[in-house]
Amino acid sequence: MQALIAGGGIGGLAAALAASRAGWGVRLYERAPVFSEVGAGIQLGPNVVKLLHGWGLAEGLDRVAAFPQQLDVRSAMKGHTLGRLRLGQTMRQRYGAPYATVHRADLHALLLDAVRQAGVRLKLNHTLDRFTQDAHTVTVQSGDDPPVEAEVLVGADGLWSPVRQWLLGDGPPRATSHLAYRALVRQADVPQALRSQDVTAWLGPRLHVVQYPVCGGEWLNLVAIVHGAVPGDLDNWDRGTEAQELLSALSGTCVALQNIVRAIPAWRLWALCDRSPMQGAHEHAQGRVALLGDAAHPMRPYLAQGAGMAIEDAAELGRALAQARDPALDVPTMLNRYALNRWQRNARVQQRAIRNGQIFHADGVLRWGRDLSMKLLGERLLDVPWLYGGP
Ligand SMILES: Cc1cc2nc3c(=O)[nH]c(=O)nc-3n(C[C@H](O)[C@H](O)[C@H](O)COP(=O)(O)OP(=O)(O)OC[C@H]3O[C@@H](n4cnc5c(N)ncnc54)[C@H](O)[C@@H]3O)c2cc1C
Repeated sequence: MQALIAGGGIGGLAAALAASRAGWGVRLYERAPVFSEVGAGIQLGPNVVKLLHGWGLAEGLDRVAAFPQQLDVRSAMKGHTLGRLRLGQTMRQRYGAPYATVHRADLHALLLDAVRQAGVRLKLNHTLDRFTQDAHTVTVQSGDDPPVEAEVLVGADGLWSPVRQWLLGDGPPRATSHLAYRALVRQADVPQALRSQDVTAWLGPRLHVVQYPVCGGEWLNLVAIVHGAVPGDLDNWDRGTEAQELLSALSGTCVALQNIVRAIPAWRLWALCDRSPMQGAHEHAQGRVALLGDAAHPMRPYLAQGAGMAIEDAAELGRALAQARDPALDVPTMLNRYALNRWQRNARVQQRAIRNGQIFHADGVLRWGRDLSMKLLGERLLDVPWLYGGP
C-alpha cells in the first residue's frame, strides 16, 4: 500500500514516519528546494513528547531539547508572579513524559533523520499541483512529472494548504489581527540576570510574551504577541524588524520585560491566521484523502499545541493505516476512523487556544478576575490534564 504526503514540515514528516511504521510505502513531496524550519522555538507538552518517545526519538530529543522545571506566569505590567506550574519531574510523574522546549530545526532534523532511516522517498522541489480520486486510487500531479497513483494522499501542506482547497474549497484562513514577534538569542549573549531555563509567560492588556530555553538550554526563544493589522497578502507574510518597534508596542510594560526585549536586536514579525474550530470529521478526511496538522486545523499559538496536534494526528493516522492488514477494511473506512478519532480533540484545542488568547490579553475586570483566580487556584488553573494526558 502506497501513501503520498504533501508537505515536509513537522506534520508531514511525522505522518511519513507513522505511515511507514504502519507498513506503508511512503513518498513525500515538499515544494521547497531544501528542507527547513523557521528559526524559532516550539514547546512540546508531555502528550507530544510521549509520542516522540514511542517512535524511538527519546535519545535524540534529550540531546537537543531543554526540559524546563517550571512555567512562571508574570504580569507584563508590574513584573510580579501571578501563578506557577511545575513542569520537570511533576509532568513526568503526572503524564508519563516531560515537558520539552526545542528549536524547530532540531525537531525537524530529528524527524527527517528517522524518516530517511525508515526508507521514505523524499521529493524536494516538488509542488503537488492537483489530485483526483476514485473508488480505487488517488492520483497526484507534480509539475511535468508523470502522474503518480497511490492508495492514500495526506495533505500536510500547512496553513495555506492547496490540498484542503481541492478537497473542501472553503477559502483562505482568516486573519486574527494578532502579530507575533519572534527572536532567538544565545543565553551567553544576554546579561546574566536575563538568562533563564524556565518557561515564562508575561501577560498584559492586548499582549503577551513567552520565553523559554532551546538547544539544550543554550539559547533563549522569545515570542511576543500584540494586536495589530497587517496590510496586503498574508500568505507567507514575514519580515525582519528591530527591538525598537516591539518596544513601542510594549509601552507601559515593566522594566524587566523591556530589558529582555532590548537585549535582542533582531526580530522577525509574522501575522497570525487561523480557522474556526473544526465542525466535523469531513474536514479531516474524505475518501482516500486526509488532512493533517495546520492544513486541517490551523490554530492560534496560545496553547502551544499546533505542531503537537499535527504529531498526534500523525500517530492516529499511523494507527488507522496499520488496519490495512485487515482485508475486510477499505481505505476510506480507515481514514474515516482517523477523522472520527481526531476532529473533536483538535476542535477543542482550537477553541481553548482562542479562549487562552482572550484570558492572556484581558484588561479591566476580566484581568482582575484572572489574576485573582490564578492566585487562589494556581496550578489547578494552569495544568491541562485533558490535553497533557493525551488523546
Ligand atoms: C508564533 C507561533 C508559535 C507557535 N508555537 C508553537 C508551540 O510552542 N508548540 C506547538 O506545538 N506549535 C506551535 N505553533 C504552531 C506550529 O508552528 C504549527 O502548527 C506547525 O508548525 C504546523 O506544521 P505543519 O507541518 O502542519 O505545517 P507547515 O510547517 O506549514 O508545513 C507545511 C509544508 O508544506 C509545504 N507545502 C505547501 N504546499 C505544498 C504543495 N502544494 N506541495 C508540496 N509541498 C507543499 C510547505 O513548503 C511546508 O514545508 C506556533 C505557531 C506560531 C505562528
